[in-house]
Amino acid sequence: MQLLPGIYQLSGSLAGLGGDQILGPWDECNMYLIDSGSSCILIDAGNGENIDIIFKRMEMWGLDPNKISTLFLTHAHWDHAGGARLFKDRGVKILSSKETADSVASADHRCAGFLYHKEMIPVTVDRIVGDREVVTVDALEFEALHLPGHTLGCMAYLLTFNDQRILFSGDVIGTLGWGDFGWDGSVDFDKQRYIASLFKLQGIPFDVLLPGHGMGSYTDPVKRVNISLNQALIRWR
Ligand SMILES: [Zn+2]
Repeated sequence: MQLLPGIYQLSGSLAGLGGDQILGPWDECNMYLIDSGSSCILIDAGNGENIDIIFKRMEMWGLDPNKISTLFLTHAHWDHAGGARLFKDRGVKILSSKETADSVASADHRCAGFLYHKEMIPVTVDRIVGDREVVTVDALEFEALHLPGHTLGCMAYLLTFNDQRILFSGDVIGTLGWGDFGWDGSVDFDKQRYIASLFKLQGIPFDVLLPGHGMGSYTDPVKRVNISLNQALIRWR
């Protein structure tokens, strides 16, 4: 579904893909697509199991799956990166943090396949991005923000598009709404670094928040960061 002009949500429970009775909405992430006009850029790969439905949807919306050029991974968990290898095999260029690249290459427990009773398929990232590094794709500038905690490799990507600063935040803040955090069982979960990341995110202005699960925020999204920070300080200090 189209969220904003040129920005689509391809998957996730609110898009009708993901969510079973045991795991709730966590087995498939929100994949986002940005239509640059020249190519399609993805935020996260999803778990890979819904790829045929996703491509059919893209075609219904007039988007050509063969025009996907670039995939930014927010982190290595299976529900976000399990499908990365399918895109790699189609010639899509994959970018991530160093820690995420290492996790998905080794496909080890940091990818949390065990949580879903699934095997992570290893994949090689094409370009490693560092904190505050700006990546230009089709004249669009994506700023990478390293926000470790949920995993050590968590990256958010900040894009200015149609005069709005849009933050694709992955699982960094309470992804189901107001102060509710994602899974805190990752082998590389780190409370103190998570709190530091939320303080860091508070200082970065943006207009729209598009998280890794659940609903986006289109007005005053910093409130959601504040609430997550408050919850983190109460629960994790
Ligand atoms: Zn996650």
